Amino acid sequence: MRVCNLSSGSDGNCTYVETPNAKVLVDLGISASEVTKRLRILGVEASDIDAILISHEHSDHIKGLDVFATKYKTKVYVHSKGVGALYMKMKKLPASQIYSFDDMPFSINDLSVDTVELPHDAVHCSGFILSCGSRKISIITDLGHTNDVILNKISGSSLVYLECNHDVEMLKNNPNYPAKLKARILGKNGHLSNLDCAKAVEYLTKTGTKQIMLSHISRHNNTQTLAYTSVCSYLKKVGIIEGKDIKISTASINMSTIFKLN
Ligand SMILES: [Zn+2]
Ligand SMILES: [Zn+2]
Repeated sequence: MRVCNLSSGSDGNCTYVETPNAKVLVDLGISASEVTKRLRILGVEASDIDAILISHEHSDHIKGLDVFATKYKTKVYVHSKGVGALYMKMKKLPASQIYSFDDMPFSINDLSVDTVELPHDAVHCSGFILSCGSRKISIITDLGHTNDVILNKISGSSLVYLECNHDVEMLKNNPNYPAKLKARILGKNGHLSNLDCAKAVEYLTKTGTKQIMLSHISRHNNTQTLAYTSVCSYLKKVGIIEGKDIKISTASINMSTIFKLN
């Protein structure tokens, strides 16, 4: 498997996943032209994409979807509960190109797709657990908190893209965020804080994960460095050393590391 995050954060999310027989995007929250350009850096043409998996209907996950999927006639997969909300936001995409999944795993060529419901204030939000042979990766954004169902499903993934959205104090003290918005982000169905992310990383490290990409990092209530140091210092307190027991990197609005899982 080859995996690369093309963009991460509230300005747009998009991750490329490739197996020997499948080329898939998870979310398409940046412009179609930007996705096309970034795919070319990986040696992939937009027309080669077999499917786009959509987590939920928020614009930072679907901004370029309508233009891209219509132009390249790409199949779009979304949870059955989220089909209506997604279709409402499409201007050109024919309904016949939208495929719904429920809570059962399905396949796109040799890529197995399992999903888990994430607690988030969307109509329905899906986390993705993608595998090919013995390789397994998970993409888990956006969520207000973790739970046992999510952690059990993603455990054993060699690579996890996990939301590490905000520093709670930085958010609480942000003078530009109204109280209602702060409450939404901090709520059970909002976004995952650095500390809550760190606790999930502790669990994942103990269950065999080797690489974490801290994702969907807020531009206003966090920084790449703060997210990384917060998670690493929590892990250190519980006896886990970054670089030895687990590798942790941060995803940004720019393309990040290309992972090859053989
Ligand atoms: Zn969202
Ligand atoms: Zn989002």
